[in-house]
Formats: sequence, C-alpha cells, structure tokens
Amino acid sequence: MHTIDMDLVEMTLDVMKYTIDRISNITPELGSPKKEEELYKMVGETITPEGIGGETAFSLFRDVLVKATVPIDHPRHLAFVPAAPTRAAIMFDLVTSASSIHGAYWMEGAGGIFCENQAMKWLVSLTQLPEGAFGVFTSGGTAANLSALVTAREEWREQQPDQARERALLLTSTGAHSSIKSMAKVMDADVLLVDSEEEYLSGTDLEKEITGLSEKDRRRLFAVVATGGTTNAGIIDDLNSIAAICEKENIWFHVDCAYGGGALAADSVRHLFNGIERADSITIDPHKWLFSPYDCGAVIYKNLDLARKAHSQKGAYLDIFKDEGAQGFNPSDYQIQLTRRLRGMPLWFSLAMHGTNKYKEAIERGIELAQIAAEKVKNNPELELVRPASLSVVLFKRKGWKPEDYRDWTYKNHNEGFALVTPSSWKGETVIRFCFINPDTTEKDIDEILATL
Ligand SMILES: *Cc1c(COP(=O)(O)O)cnc(C)c1O
Repeated sequence: MHTIDMDLVEMTLDVMKYTIDRISNITPELGSPKKEEELYKMVGETITPEGIGGETAFSLFRDVLVKATVPIDHPRHLAFVPAAPTRAAIMFDLVTSASSIHGAYWMEGAGGIFCENQAMKWLVSLTQLPEGAFGVFTSGGTAANLSALVTAREEWREQQPDQARERALLLTSTGAHSSIKSMAKVMDADVLLVDSEEEYLSGTDLEKEITGLSEKDRRRLFAVVATGGTTNAGIIDDLNSIAAICEKENIWFHVDCAYGGGALAADSVRHLFNGIERADSITIDPHKWLFSPYDCGAVIYKNLDLARKAHSQKGAYLDIFKDEGAQGFNPSDYQIQLTRRLRGMPLWFSLAMHGTNKYKEAIERGIELAQIAAEKVKNNPELELVRPASLSVVLFKRKGWKPEDYRDWTYKNHNEGFALVTPSSWKGETVIRFCFINPDTTEKDIDEILATL
C-alpha cells in the first residue's frame, strides 16, 4: 500500500529530525496564539485536490503553525495543570501509533493491553483499593469521570427500579472540577454543590446536606464526588469521613484525582488521601502528574463487574472467537469508548524503563518546588501568600495589584517568550497560581519569575 517515493523519504527524514530535536529540547520556544486569519495569511490553503506535498506541509507546521502553540512542558509553564511527559513516554507514543493496535478488545490488542494492565496494576496499588479493584485508561479525566458516574447511576437504578424515570442527583463540593458539572449535563443528572465550613469537604458537611434533602431528592441521590487535589488550590477533601457517610447512606463514592492522583505515589503526602481506599471509583490523569503525553486518563473501580454491566457493548461480529488466547480483558467494557488508542502504553514503557522510584522522586520534586516557591513568597515583602502550598499548587498575591495588573503581567511574560504564569481567583480575589509538575523547573526559574512581579 505504501509506495516509496522521494517525497515520502524527505518527509520521513524531516519528521524524524524534528521529533528527535523536540524530544531532546527541554526549553522549547514558548509560542503564542494568533488569529485564524493571520495564520491563514501565513500558510494559505493546505488541502487541495493534488496535495501540497509532505515536505511543504511539514515545513508549514514546523516553521509557522507550531509557533502558534504553547509547549506545556516548558519549565516556566506554571499555568493550568502543566505536563512534562518523559522522553521515554513520548518515544513510546510514536511506537503506539506505528504499531496500529486496536485497544478495545483483548482479541486484537492482547499484547498491548497486557502493557497497559501492568501500568494499571501499579496505579491501583497506589490507591490501596481492595483485591479485585481494577481500571482502564481513558482519553482524560472528563471521560474517566463520565465513565465512573454512568456506572454509579446504572447501579443506583439497578438497586431502585422505581427510580427509573427520575433524574439522578449527585453531590460534590464547590472546589470540584468543571467536568463534573459538565458530565452531569451529558447524563442529564442534577448537581448540588455542598457548602463547607473548611476549605475542604468533610463528612460533617455532607451529612448536613443529605439530612436537609427532601425525601424525593434523597431517593434521587446516586453519587458523591470528592476531589483528591482541587485543580485550583490542590486541596484534598476529607476522604475518610466522606467515605463513612457514603457507606452509611449506601451512596456511590467517587474520588476525582485527575490532577492530584500522581501524589498518591509521594510518601510525604500520601496520608492526605487516607480513605481513598474506600472509594467505589477513582479518576487519575497520567497526562497531568504521571509524565505521560496527551492524552491519557484512567478510571479505577472497586467492583469492575459493575462497570462492565454499565458499559459493555456486545457486537455480533465478536462471537466467533473461540480461541482461548482471544479471551481476556476488554478495555471497551469499562468506559464509554469502543475503538480506542492504547493510551496506557507510553506510561507503561516509561514506568518499565525508569522504575516506580523515579516517578516517586519526580512527583516529590513538584511538591518540593511548591514549598520552595511558597517560602520565597513569604520572604518577599511585595508578595503575600494566600494559603499554604497544597500538593504542587501555590496561591499568592502581589500587594497593591488590581486584576488588570495581573493580566498585563501574564501577557508581558508570555509575549517575551519567558514564562506562562497566570492569575486565578481565591475567595473572590485575583491571585497568582503556580502549579508545578515539571521536575526540570529550577529554583532559578522561580526566582526569575518572582523578579518580574
Ligand atoms: C483536569 C481535571 C479534570 C479533567 O480532566 P481532562 O483530562 O482535562 O479531561 C477533571 N478533574 C480534575 C480534578 C482535574 O484537575
């Protein structure tokens, strides 16, 4: 099918050279977005009946378009949740593509799914969920949350058939990620945000909220979502006391650790997650703090059978496979997607190559960088630490600044190609938020960024 022509050879060399250069460059140019019209003016029409040729198309990408993107692995990219995929994981992402493995069924993907499951076994061990718990890789935290919540909703209906026509209701905290509300919309479920006395959600808050529900709402309640590291502030809900209420009330307990999940491997903070082993389902994003390339999320279930009941798609065309080797773990049975990329393979290769100790160290470094930054903020008379660093997030203010000053500062650093650091808000006030993921970020980087304030 692939005829060898010179254009293909040139393009292959270009792509390989670019890829190797990019993988080995730890301070890639910080690009910035441009208007679509501007990009069009620079690039022109690229899809034509005859094709513009691989070399031309690739040079447009390399010389123009990639410069209108922000490399999230830059050591001075501290906005949102940055990412820092290992070189091993990125290289194996290429291998995953080149190998063309369909990741839905064991029948087609056995060897690749074996790799994913090895990595998953380590993730599950970090949660300390009981024997029998297992999970599957998804496109990200949003898909993982949806997969878990659909499983919860199906189980609730199974247990209360008279609720079949009722809209389901879930409870979560004000710090929960936007994807919870958004996925509840997909499911046509309602969300109630529980107010907390403290900065985190506790069993006491939850119990108060449940006691205040009408009988009808109490019966619609199918899940509680706690957060294992809020995206904005790194705050972990009081998982043990929430678990206790969920057990007493017989409600599905989901813990969203999309951002914070990597910290389960960090001995210095692992105790903050105590109670997670009582969850019914957990979301972790390896593309955030487990050094995987985009995109890779994970959903883990205490009882895998319930996930299969909710998600398994049966195809008549699959029934003919009697071969014993074809029978095994089918990732499509446990989450919302059928055809799927083997997203866990890059994580597997990188874990296998480096060992889990290296992962622990790299995650601890993110936590340490946040502590270091918080200390520097405390010692700077112009700055004010808003709350102690949590996981790898630091929130602070520049004394005397108005919201526009924060915005101008963000743009200035970004336009100069120096750093991407953005404001957020905390208790109604504009603050600066640093989120550390990249273990290659240095103290000098922090000093230089603080010096721009
Ligand atoms: C990032 C994040 C999500 C969404 O994950 P995606 O991978 O972006 O879909 C969900 N929950 C939390 C807590 C997050 O930090």
